[in-house]
Amino acid sequence: MPRPLESIRNTGIIAHIDAGKTTTTERVLYYTKATHKMGSVDDGTTETDFDEEEAQRGITIYSAAVSCDWQGTQINIIDTPGHVDFTAEVERSLRVLDGAVTVFSAVEGVEAQSETVWRQADRYGVPRICFINKMDRIGASFERVFDEIRDRLACTPIAVAVPMGAESAGEDPFAGTIDLVAMKALYFDSESKGDTVRAEEIPERYAAMAAAWRSKLLDAVADLDEEAMETYLETDDLPAETVKRLLRVGTLERDAGQRIHPVFCGSSLDYIGVQPLLDGVVDYLPSPADVPPVEGQTPSGKKAGATETREAKPDAPLAGLVFKIIAEQHADLYFYRIYSGTLKPNSRLLNPRTGKKELVSQVWQIQASHRTKIDEAGPGEIVGLIGPKDAVTGDTLCENAKPVVLERITFPETVISMAVEPESSADRKKLEDTLPRLAKQDPTFAAKVSEDTGQTIISGMGELHLEVIKNRLHKDFNLDVRVHKPRVSYRETVKKAVTGTGTFDRQQEGKTQFAAVTVKLEPHQGDEPLTFATSLKPGEVPADLFAQLQDAIKGEAAAGGVVGYPLMNVRVTITDAKLKSGESTDVAIQAAAAMAVREALDNSDIALLEPQMKLEVVTPTEFLGAVQGDLQSRRALITNQTPRGDLIVLDGSVALSQMFGYSTQVRSLSQGRASYSMELLNYAEAPKEVLKEMLGGY
Ligand code: GDP
Ligand code: MG
Repeated sequence: MPRPLESIRNTGIIAHIDAGKTTTTERVLYYTKATHKMGSVDDGTTETDFDEEEAQRGITIYSAAVSCDWQGTQINIIDTPGHVDFTAEVERSLRVLDGAVTVFSAVEGVEAQSETVWRQADRYGVPRICFINKMDRIGASFERVFDEIRDRLACTPIAVAVPMGAESAGEDPFAGTIDLVAMKALYFDSESKGDTVRAEEIPERYAAMAAAWRSKLLDAVADLDEEAMETYLETDDLPAETVKRLLRVGTLERDAGQRIHPVFCGSSLDYIGVQPLLDGVVDYLPSPADVPPVEGQTPSGKKAGATETREAKPDAPLAGLVFKIIAEQHADLYFYRIYSGTLKPNSRLLNPRTGKKELVSQVWQIQASHRTKIDEAGPGEIVGLIGPKDAVTGDTLCENAKPVVLERITFPETVISMAVEPESSADRKKLEDTLPRLAKQDPTFAAKVSEDTGQTIISGMGELHLEVIKNRLHKDFNLDVRVHKPRVSYRETVKKAVTGTGTFDRQQEGKTQFAAVTVKLEPHQGDEPLTFATSLKPGEVPADLFAQLQDAIKGEAAAGGVVGYPLMNVRVTITDAKLKSGESTDVAIQAAAAMAVREALDNSDIALLEPQMKLEVVTPTEFLGAVQGDLQSRRALITNQTPRGDLIVLDGSVALSQMFGYSTQVRSLSQGRASYSMELLNYAEAPKEVLKEMLGGY
């Protein structure tokens, strides 16, 4: 039997970089016996940062899923990246987790990235509990960070654990925590690395402080339930079971305005407060049964596009989502979240995107770098698959007889590209083999060889994104590449209707090869970048030759315009064609098509289009002037300015080409406090000088 849903927690750990996510995860894996040794971020020996680059940089870029067991409950920890430039990874992990722990530093408090991710989690309705970490550090303040959570994140935090002592208080050092539900003082024995926890009476000097927090807790939970409120008013107290039950109800609340967030505290580094947090994951965060059944669509056939739901039941048709692929030496490892049904090894599953079947030969439970082969897995579980070949991140894999496409994770188009070449020409082949593997793992990354220059061009979501790819090539694949300056991904369009004719007429060994065609290119806003049409009468030229001609013209138009960028917003019409069976060979058709399109482009007045980005910048009020001034110099158009707590949110648009170096700049203008996000809005005409410069180079 697959595991009962109630005993699964798919949980993410969300944090600003350096808040202690990796350290906390290490402690969790140790206390749950998923590992036997305790890793350390500072020595580069942690379980979750098994990507070499992460271990070296000490930051977590690639999310991985790790399973562990806490008191009969399987906790699957889905690691989320703590860096602003990896929002696609964050979105992807938020999509497959049911609840999250947000880790804050007791010194730094609510930082930009936790705020960004907190907002994303709000959008996905993900229930969250909070952990105020680093209580051992000088300057730590539980109360200050608690207030910041309430004010900056505009939510309702409820303390369920408070610290005894703090380095900054000038009195006692941080010694343990007080469990406000059981009203006990908890001490974590450092000798056993916190493995042994003692519950004792609350020391006299913390009694008043604990009582005050406890009554806030009771006020808040009593508010959630009439009967509890009556008991509370009568007895001035509530039983622990009632408090826990209501905390769970409030945390799982779907209405964001009503939702509460239990807050824990501790020091992961000093082994304090982690087990109560684990209890909190079990007690307050949702199981897959607590979230609504997943929705998807019928992929094809008469009912294509119709909504389908898949219940989280072992006997329902199998459906799940590939949310992460890790390239390994022998085979790729696919991280897969099962939403419904039961998966066994050696199953053939349908990938509705390709219409092809994929063989899942092995199913693994992943515990960081350790893994166990399993015989079956059920709804809500997160497993590693070996066997699929063509699936990419974001694909659904489902039962063949009951096809469904789960809501696809949408990835924005790539907006920035740069040429790369191997340092040594012997590595060219290796580079060609490696780039597609990376693209499969990361749907926001693409690579191609430019037809004009023969250069390899990689494209992605931003500067840091491509820099990380470059470093991965070096570290993971031992491939050193030279990179050219990044450019935005331009497009070309024609400004008015133009025509061009191509004629190929040649005698070769007594045989005639002949084809002639005239095309018209004109501005056109269609659903696709290029629209194709013909004004020939049906039967005017042989159908098979016409099809060949059309393909040749499509290929030529897609290959790029005058300065080599793909055409966009153009309609291509075949207005005249002379083709004869026997004489119009493939060579003749290709050549005539190419000449016609080139001539039309030569006659045209082209315009260069560049990506315009939708921009959101969130900055503390004190840095507003500096941030605005900088945006002005980048010719950004700010359309909205809204206060949020003591922050200002700026909304607007800007040409991507103006935003090189922005992440560094905005951080330095705001002491690291402002955050921003960008996504593609549309393509708009680039300044004339840009095109002139490109043409000059030709
Ligand atoms: P992440 O970037 O969120 O994964 O954070 P890490 O776990 O990598 O921790 C960042 C740094 O903070 C490391 O040097 C850790 O040793 C340190 N750190 C983590 N937790 C604590 C803590 O509770 N107290 C103190 N003093 N340092 C901590
Ligand atoms: Mg980390």
